[in-house]
Amino acid sequence: MAGEVQKKPRWLLHWNHLQNEVVATNVCTGCSGCIVACPHDVLGYDEHWHPVLAEEARVDGAADRCVHGEKACTMCTRACPRFRAWEPEIDEFLHGRERKPTQKEVIGIHQDVLLVRTVDPDWLDKGQDGGFCTAMLIWCLRKGHIDAALVSYVDDEWRATPGVATTEADVLRAAGSRYTYSANPLAYQEAIDAGAEKLALVGMGCMTSSPPMMMTRGARKSGKKFVLTIGLLCSKSFTDDIFEDLIAPKYGLARSDIVKMNIKGKLQLWTRPGVVEGDYLEVPLSECHEFTRPGCTTCPDFAAEHADISMGGLGQTGGWTLTIVRTETGRKIFDEMVSEGWLEVKSAVDEDPAAVTLMRRLAAKSRKRWPVHLRSGRPIEDALPGVIEATLPD
Ligand SMILES: Cc1cc2nc3c(=O)[nH]c(=O)nc-3n(C[C@H](O)[C@H](O)[C@H](O)COP(=O)(O)OP(=O)(O)OC[C@H]3O[C@@H](n4cnc5c(N)ncnc54)[C@H](O)[C@@H]3O)c2cc1C
Repeated sequence: MAGEVQKKPRWLLHWNHLQNEVVATNVCTGCSGCIVACPHDVLGYDEHWHPVLAEEARVDGAADRCVHGEKACTMCTRACPRFRAWEPEIDEFLHGRERKPTQKEVIGIHQDVLLVRTVDPDWLDKGQDGGFCTAMLIWCLRKGHIDAALVSYVDDEWRATPGVATTEADVLRAAGSRYTYSANPLAYQEAIDAGAEKLALVGMGCMTSSPPMMMTRGARKSGKKFVLTIGLLCSKSFTDDIFEDLIAPKYGLARSDIVKMNIKGKLQLWTRPGVVEGDYLEVPLSECHEFTRPGCTTCPDFAAEHADISMGGLGQTGGWTLTIVRTETGRKIFDEMVSEGWLEVKSAVDEDPAAVTLMRRLAAKSRKRWPVHLRSGRPIEDALPGVIEATLPD
């Protein structure tokens, strides 16, 4: 009826629902959003990248019955970017509409697809592709847009660990990619304890969908602290076993001898001088697949579709970051950086159409991973085979 306000039904879903629908069914990616949003601090993180309920918070010792959840605490389900109708809800929140079932929006709703790189040679050298992510974090720290960024650090043995960056030196120390999982939102509390109020989150799509999910469903206390999300394109990450069970025994390379890695159709490894001929070796991706992290196998989001800005290196060999500008927040910061001469920018569609096509194909392929019984029957999912065959309209 005209003028009648539709009241949203009360959100009553809690840990029991999350544990049974997301964690136990392996659609949990391990993003750690639920842990960040838990106001009682009773969710931990196990070695399988899953949230676990603390013993003292269990009703009758049951791992899926939270004493707070059964008293109406619902924060964990409000933060989970894989719970129920997460995708259309976040699309609506960020963009005021759902994505269209077109080739263009198979990578999520966006404004622009560009090739970008920093003009600073040192940042370009330290960055994985065009060093744009690093440059954007440094820009935001300098301009006061953020007081800290949640990033990933790596030790000499290539163990990736979430951490907080509050200085340019920190950001540069975190630059580059590790292809094992680092749940960067886990660094949230450290940043808050240090007094940060405005955070940037760097992470794959599983992680960068969490802050807007928190905002959409009313987990605002933590959600509103994230003022910028930088998404990394990702088709999968590996478990740490890849070092011990493949790279060391088959290629004779200790993890401590690796200085850089990348994935460009194969796993590329650069080593300390003299360790292998040419200080470089390649591992076919077919050998790496068995080390795929279980949480990645059901993830439908290649292009970090709910980030403010998404970045990848697809098809780029000359040090450019393939960039998807999505929200007004992402656009504003990007435009500021361009206007102050911080970035070189080219149109990806004009300069590297093959990379854009490949990105769409990989996005369509990832979308097929989301279990059929959880699909909502929305047009985009019905259209998936068509997207793969690239028959959808632009
Ligand atoms: C696991 C993984 C898989 C990826 N898969 C693809 C892919 O299939 N196709 C593609 O085009 N691009 C992929 N990327 C993105 C790509 O590797 C670059 O991160 C991206 O192009 C940005 O480059 P840059 O030079 O601008 O970033 P940089 O300036 O080097 O900044 C990179 C940022 O990523 C953070 N980071 C590094 N490793 C991790 C990690 N494991 N988890 C969370 N944060 C991390 C760092 O802290 C740093 O802030 C992947 C990245 C990761 C981490």
